[in-house]
Order: sequence, then C-alpha cells, then structure tokens
Amino acid sequence: MRILKWPNPALTAVASPIESVDDSVRATAEEMLMAMAESRGLGLAGPQVGYGKRLICVNVTPGSPEGERVYVNPEIVGREGEVTAEEGCLSLPGVNGKVTRAAKVTVRATDLKGEPLTLFAEGLLSRVLQHEIDHLDGVLITQRFSAIDKAANARSLRELEKTSRTPTASRR
Ligand SMILES: [Zn+2]
Repeated sequence: MRILKWPNPALTAVASPIESVDDSVRATAEEMLMAMAESRGLGLAGPQVGYGKRLICVNVTPGSPEGERVYVNPEIVGREGEVTAEEGCLSLPGVNGKVTRAAKVTVRATDLKGEPLTLFAEGLLSRVLQHEIDHLDGVLITQRFSAIDKAANARSLRELEKTSRTPTASRR
C-alpha cells in the first residue's frame, strides 16, 4: 500500500461514509496500519492511500503496535480549548508548520467490530485525530498554516509538484 503525496487529487476529495464494517474494511485497515507503521507515522487516513472512505488509523506511540487504533466514520462532536503546535504530514514530506487546533476533542466513531464508541482525547492524540479527520474532508495542514508558514513552505510544495509529474505527462 502506497502513501499518496501532494498534489495527488485523492488528497483533496471528501471521503464518503462507510455503510457497514465488513471484512474488506478490516483488510484495508490492516494494510493501512502496516503502511503507517512502516513510515513511523502517528496517523493515516483513507484518502492518503487512495481509499475514499471515512477510515483512519492512529498510533501516538509509533514503534509499539499496542498503540494502534482504527476508527470508522469518526466525527468530532465536542471541542475545548485551543493549542498551536508544529505539524507535518506523510503526504507532504518536507512541509512543516504551526497549526492551531482544539486542545481537547470528543470523537464519536465505530470500531472494526461495528460497535459505536465515544472517545475523549487531549494532547498529541487530540491533535492527531483532528489532523486525520481533516484528511477525510480533503483538508491538508497547508490550508491551516499562517501566511508566514505558507510562504516558508512554498518551495517544498513546488518541489513536490515537480516530482509528482510523470514522464508521460511532461512529454505532452
Ligand atoms: Zn496527514
């Protein structure tokens, strides 16, 4: 499973809800967990692997599989406070900037057995959940950067846009 990089259009599309948690969803989740672990990511969302469904994986202790969690159709139903911190993204290598997010979130989701759950998160987990749920809405960190951070990352973004061009496309 390959992690898509900017400017792949899959990254800016809105993901659709998962109707039922079946074996194909569980198999996709398993592959996503492996891809996330391989890249030592803290989180991975369906659109980042070309899966246009509302599925996210998180692990705020990369390297230890016991921290792995999968959420189906996650939705933020409560927010509290505000905190700004530096973020990066597996789909935006070389791009980093400050993002302001809610300090604490309440998330409603479904687990891989199809059971509903409510999660209260703060700290890094809260940030990662908000980042991954943003992906489901086609929102990337660059959209949340300040003008200064946008300018600071313009060159890295242009580089990504250049390397993404296939030889076939540039020959036209
Ligand atoms: Zn990301």
